[in-house]
This record gives sequence, structure tokens and C-alpha cells, in this order.
Amino acid sequence: MSEPILRTTELTKHFGGLAAVNQVSLDFYAGQVHALLGPNGAGKSTFINLLSGDLKPSGGEVSLAGCAIEGLSPEKISRMGVGRTYQKTNIFPAFTVFENARLAAQSRRPHAFHLFRHALACGDTLELAEKVLAMGELTHRRNDMAAILSHGEQRQLEIAMALATEPQVLLLDEPLAGMGATESAAMVRLLKKLAEDHAILLVEHDMDAVFAVADVVTVMVNGTVLESGSPGAIRASAAVQEAYLGAEEDE
Ligand code: ADP
Ligand code: MG
Repeated sequence: MSEPILRTTELTKHFGGLAAVNQVSLDFYAGQVHALLGPNGAGKSTFINLLSGDLKPSGGEVSLAGCAIEGLSPEKISRMGVGRTYQKTNIFPAFTVFENARLAAQSRRPHAFHLFRHALACGDTLELAEKVLAMGELTHRRNDMAAILSHGEQRQLEIAMALATEPQVLLLDEPLAGMGATESAAMVRLLKKLAEDHAILLVEHDMDAVFAVADVVTVMVNGTVLESGSPGAIRASAAVQEAYLGAEEDE
């Protein structure tokens, strides 16, 4: 297999005495959806925050295309090609879908952000905004206020906005949360399409969606990797059944 685009080596985060992420070594490849599963409190969101720079690691390494990025600011990591969505929405409801995309496209350039309402937008920014809307399958909604989008469409817009930095890696924390079957199916389709030319790290509780879309599945428990492998291998794993999948079914 080719080189991973993103690699963690013994990545660790302590909160006081708690090792929320404990010596996690994983590789992420372009063209793959890598799903991260695990019970609440397993350390999945903390792991994403370490990759995006929102948290500083206590130990270990993160390399992006061979460059060490651990400890860099979120802005810098974002500009280097790691995009993410947040569980708390960053959409501006009173702006149109296109204006939200344009804002994201402009904000990738330092110092342009606060000027966005006044500056005559440059051609390449407008072009990029159109491109990310198309990638997020929202072109037909471009002139609608973001506030009137469905929950699923708002999640799509967040992903489109994350694409404005033209990332190689996309970190998605529970993108299907709160979605019905139709919205989930649309999001799964979108993730499959984006995975053609991105490495996607997907934290998600919806097992059907995970097994429909993932190329690799890693199960975390108590901050450590319990098992990592193909969806088939993970489904069949006795250790995973016992620690996680079995427990889910009991809920
Ligand atoms: P997951 O996303 O898998 O549900 P988290 O990464 O959110 O798990 O949390 C992992 C563990 O770290 C939990 O025990 C959580 O309470 C703890 N934790 C997460 N963030 C913080 C924080 N900022 N300060 C202290 N403890 C935290
Ligand atoms: Mg979480």
C-alpha cells in the first residue's frame, strides 16, 4: 500500500490522571473512509481534537504527508490540509447557503475574514464557493437562507464549508447524529463520493452507516485501540463483540 497521508504514533492525551487517548498509532490513507467506533468516553472526540490541533497532545506524534504537525495551531493544521466539522454548528443561519460557502472560502485566507461583507469577492473565491457547494450537493439550495435547510442539509453545508480549505483529510465527528433514514442515506452517499479523493476519519454511532461506508474500522475502548481492520474482520471479532457491539445490542 502507498504511504499514509496521516499517521499517528503513540498519540496520547492526559486530562489530569485520565489517559483519554493512550498511545494510539493509526494510519489514514487517501481514498479510504476510516471509521472510529467505541462506547461513549472511549476517546474518539479527543483523538479528533488532537489531529485538528484543538487539543495539544501529552505525547506521541502526528504526521501529515510526512511532516510533523502535532502541537501546531488549528488554523495552521487546517491550512496544511486537515479539514473538520464541529458538533456545534458554524453555519450563519441568516446568510444564504452560497454566502456561507463564500465566507468559508474567504476565511481560508488570513486577514480576509473580517472584510467578507464589504470586499468585492475575488473571482477565485466565488469559484471555490461554487465548487464546494457542488461537492456538498447543495447547488440547488444556493440562494436559500441557511436557516431553512433541513438538519441533514445543514450537515452537508458544514462539510462543504470544511472543503473550502481544500483538505486532503476530513475529520467528521458524528455527521449522521439526529438524522432520519433518508438524510442518512444522502450523507452516506456524499461520504462515499468524497472518499474517492480524501482520507476521511469518521466517528459515527450508526452501525449500518459505518459498515456501509467504511474501508477500515478501528474500535477504541478506554483511550486505546482494541482492534483495527476490515469491516468484516471487526464484525467477526470476539473481542469487539464482547467490548462493544454486543453491549450496543443490549441497549
Ligand atoms: P468519546 O468522543 O469517545 O465519547 P471523549 O474523547 O469525548 O470520548 O472523552 C474521553 C474521555 O476524556 C472521557 O472520560 C471524558 O470525560 C474525558 N474528557 C474529554 N474532554 C475532556 C476535557 N476537556 N477535560 C477533562 N476530561 C475530558
Ligand atoms: Mg465524542
